[in-house]
Amino acid sequence: MAGIYVHIPFCRRRCNYCDFYFTTDRKLIEPFLAALKQELESKAPLLANERIDTIYFGGGTPSLLTFSQIRQTLDEITRLYDIESDVEITLEANPEDCSDEFWRTIHELEINRLSLGLQSFHDEKLNHLQRKHKAGKSFEVAEKAVTEVKNVSFDLIFGTEGETLELWQKDIEHALSFSPQHISPYSLTLEKGTPFFRMVERGKKHPPNNNLQEAMFLDAIATFKKNGYEHYEVSNFARPGFRSKHNVNCWKRHPYLGFGPGAHSFYHVAEKQFREANLKNIKHYIASPSKALDFKEELSDKEILNEQILLGLRQDCGLNMDVLKKRCKFAGSEPIERQSKLEELHSLNLITFTHKSICLTEKGFTLADSVAEELFV
Ligand code: SF4
Repeated sequence: MAGIYVHIPFCRRRCNYCDFYFTTDRKLIEPFLAALKQELESKAPLLANERIDTIYFGGGTPSLLTFSQIRQTLDEITRLYDIESDVEITLEANPEDCSDEFWRTIHELEINRLSLGLQSFHDEKLNHLQRKHKAGKSFEVAEKAVTEVKNVSFDLIFGTEGETLELWQKDIEHALSFSPQHISPYSLTLEKGTPFFRMVERGKKHPPNNNLQEAMFLDAIATFKKNGYEHYEVSNFARPGFRSKHNVNCWKRHPYLGFGPGAHSFYHVAEKQFREANLKNIKHYIASPSKALDFKEELSDKEILNEQILLGLRQDCGLNMDVLKKRCKFAGSEPIERQSKLEELHSLNLITFTHKSICLTEKGFTLADSVAEELFV
């Protein structure tokens, strides 16, 4: 099984914290779609022997596309790739785009999973983030989404300036009142090159408070679990049966192809594994998508092992002991039973052991990447 990711690199305006690749020049949408068609065609041989079980429209803002623009792209994917009958089709949407036409598009194109960028149900938080929509719109769209679509995910952000634990708990409460199938809470991070980063540098905004963010995250884990959600990856919670198939496939290192500027791909050719990424440049992409490659690399055995460690640990199934045994053999180090590093992580309450794997504790989830780095080859 394999996935297709389509990056729609357009936004109405910039949210100040965001470092995803996008442009606000919407005149480029049609030329972009023409280039996308070429790229879909030229990469199809890479997944010639695979069946596609997930298609993901991410961004940017996919909900800026019209019905016919999404339909044409889906038609092209269906023409070129071998699609499973129960394919998961996800579309990311911003609340301000959820018009009557948008809901018609979702139904008529049989988009069966919606990922909503709500971020908050409070105006002051949305203002801090410079999101376009207001809290009233978050409520209205959340309600409509869960009645119109069977599989809905809410994105929420925590740790904005001036936000208290109580305010975050209110956001969680509001989100849960709609019983979405999936929730992804993210801590606000300070990314270089963003307006937020520059404002912090100039002393006009405060950087996120890490201790408070950790408390908010632990609170979210406890509340979502209490309400029947499975914490199946660092920032992802789902009701049973509603994990994001697309993301799970990526974490399990199934192949996927990414299309559009900045998109990443992972695929196999014979016994070899490759990762590649497109340049984050819409003009180069439109001029020639096949020449707009940023990098392409064949993964070494060491890189494959480190990916397995990182991606395994991030999931609730944990890092399989067999991968760890392979790691110890590869590194010529002590057998895992005698690894003092593991004992140390365990004594710090960052990992637990099951008979088949090593899993992160709740505290471990707050430091997932650092714990993985400790175990890298
Ligand atoms: S957060 Fe989303 S809507 Fe805002 S600029 Fe980034 S990609 Fe666009």
